[in-house]
Amino acid sequence: MTWLFGDGIRRSALNSRIVRLKNTVSPALLVELKRFCTLWPQKLGALDLAEVESLLGIPRVVLIPVFLRAVKAGIFNLEFRISCQGCKGEGPAPRLSDVHPEMVCPACGTHNHPELDGSVRAVFCLHPSLGKVKTQKRKNLDSSSSVVSSGLPAIEVINTQEFREFFEAEQPLPGEFVRVKKMCFLFTDIAGSTATYERLGDDAAFRLVREHFSLLFSTIKQHEGVVIKTIGDSVLASFLSSANGLACARDLQLRFAQFNQRSDIQGSCRVRVGVHAGPCVGVTLNQRLDFFGSTVNIAARVQAVAGPGQLCVTKKTAIPLLSLLSGASLKRSSVELKGISRPVPVILAE
Ligand SMILES: [Zn+2]
Repeated sequence: MTWLFGDGIRRSALNSRIVRLKNTVSPALLVELKRFCTLWPQKLGALDLAEVESLLGIPRVVLIPVFLRAVKAGIFNLEFRISCQGCKGEGPAPRLSDVHPEMVCPACGTHNHPELDGSVRAVFCLHPSLGKVKTQKRKNLDSSSSVVSSGLPAIEVINTQEFREFFEAEQPLPGEFVRVKKMCFLFTDIAGSTATYERLGDDAAFRLVREHFSLLFSTIKQHEGVVIKTIGDSVLASFLSSANGLACARDLQLRFAQFNQRSDIQGSCRVRVGVHAGPCVGVTLNQRLDFFGSTVNIAARVQAVAGPGQLCVTKKTAIPLLSLLSGASLKRSSVELKGISRPVPVILAE
């Protein structure tokens, strides 16, 4: 017999699913997850992680991967909602593929252009097999649904390694795109890699490139970024905040300077780094969520402007964050970038 307590939740099933997370989530966080489910059962119907963050005092960047793993363990469903810019009502978009570049609100007729960091929200809802939680109703676009929470901006959940790993099927449909108001992109490339292969030989050069990737990936992760793709020796990473993107770039510069001092490497791995932030669109390419638009192009182009070991960031992105480059020698310049009509002011750091 399964006990259904007064709050309508199947406690024993819930607890056994929480236990399933023990190999991938720290014991301290599992205790917190259990504590939350016990103390605030009425919130489990549609969880806003911003609220969980304030109730538990755990930053959402720590919570999001835990909750994505909890979705995988059958504790929650991850759903998306779109709020109408006209009537402020909310409608469901159960999967990301239900979000289209333009959506007409059925309630007020407003043409909405949903943005992953704006009106598209991510909500975690208790898995129906664990019970039904009565939730406080809010204004709805579709009377058949019961939308209760605004949740987090969807991009905060999407721009994580866990989402990319577990929820490929949730990505936008091929040929469709979804807008993002602001995203920070970091591009890297190894300067003179052809010469490196020539000098070190294929085996040693390949080992070096692999070590370089692992240093890059761990630094990007530390700064809350996500690796979108690698193209040859080049990496594209995305960050929700320019501060994280720029801090990561500076950190990479310092770490590679140290890496290059190793006697077996002798300066062979000089990396160019480019950073730029702005609006973009998310699309599905090769079954993976990817980002496109002139912001991404500029990030790639400023990377090519950087010298070996240098960081090149657009002035617009760097100016409010110059303190992150303290200790670096800075040079201001204005560069012509292929395909961009006007010269782009940049800051070069080394
Ligand atoms: Zn509306």
